[in-house]
Amino acid sequence: MRSFVYNGLPARVVFGAGAVRQLAAEVERLGAKRVLMISTPGRAAMVAKLGLQVAGTFDRAVMHTPIAAVQEARQMANAVRADCCVAVGGGSTIGFGKAIALTSGLPVLAVPTTYSGSEMTTIWGISEGGAKKTGRDPKVLPKTVIYDPELTLDLPVAVSAASAMNAIAHCVEALYAPDGNPIVSLMAEEGIRALSAALPAIVANPKDLSSRGEALYGAWLAGSTISTTTVGLHHKLCHVLGGLGLPHAETHAIVLPHAVRYNYDAAGDAMSRLERALRVRPAFQAIYDLETRLELPLRLAEIGMKEADLERAARIATEAPYPNPRKVEYGPVLALLRAAFEGVRP
Ligand code: NAD
Repeated sequence: MRSFVYNGLPARVVFGAGAVRQLAAEVERLGAKRVLMISTPGRAAMVAKLGLQVAGTFDRAVMHTPIAAVQEARQMANAVRADCCVAVGGGSTIGFGKAIALTSGLPVLAVPTTYSGSEMTTIWGISEGGAKKTGRDPKVLPKTVIYDPELTLDLPVAVSAASAMNAIAHCVEALYAPDGNPIVSLMAEEGIRALSAALPAIVANPKDLSSRGEALYGAWLAGSTISTTTVGLHHKLCHVLGGLGLPHAETHAIVLPHAVRYNYDAAGDAMSRLERALRVRPAFQAIYDLETRLELPLRLAEIGMKEADLERAARIATEAPYPNPRKVEYGPVLALLRAAFEGVRP
């Protein structure tokens, strides 16, 4: 057993079908009395039905946490003298809770309704002037997380599948992270198992509560893995492609099998664990075939990537690489991106 450092992040998790009915009690447990409720416009009706007494509602959360919208949300938190933020929604919504907490220190209670895993991390991101600034700060980690699979029954199949592949990507990179450890690897392997088992059942029947619960459990584990480990080439590529305007979760899904192929021979132990969780070998084909079954887009070309940007993306990704099991080199990375652009089975 090699030496390691394990950092457990403090969070209270309340999990289960109907768990959101404990929202008011959980707010009280935090000692909060003046809640700022946060949602996207699309989730506003669902959030209103929760019936929580609030001091104010910010229902204009959008993707990529743009600074102008963040400032509006922060002003509202001030104006209503909020002492807590409750964020109900996906990674975009939770991102607003974190952005408020970053400057105010207000506690965040997250009720995730996708599989992004953001609720378990200290990572924040705010976009300004066409670039996304990110950082880690313990202040933004939600104090309490309520996972209720009933809230995810309406999550569209395509969003579910892409968001869950994003979660699997967190687990995959945690398996070979240089600062990984046996506990994180346990969570990563179990997260991949839960998510990959639940996904086909969700696509077949989006209202299958048991599979929805399994996927949410996997998402929790995935968020927990990425919260304390560094990410590698896969996430670097997705960050670069995100900067070109490509959608977050779909980009992760498309790049993942190719990134796994890239690292396959350089991360034997991680790949064995990945294959044990997926129950199929080789891992890169297992992931690609799963995505085919889920009817996810398989080509970067399909989600807005321009062929002319491939070389630029490969250059940016290799100029300041994240730590990665296999050396990050321009030629092979360009080949990886081209394969993802064309959607060829790795
Ligand atoms: P999202 O939050 O943008 O949600 C995707 C879509 O699903 C939205 O249109 C939303 O309204 C809809 N939706 C959400 N829940 C629903 C439900 N229950 N029923 C029906 N529709 C629903 O997408 P996401 O993939 O959850 O999050 C992506 C964002 O999160 C990105 O900006 C990414 O950078 C960030 N993220 C951050 C971290 C972190 O640790 N900070 C981790 C992962 C992702």
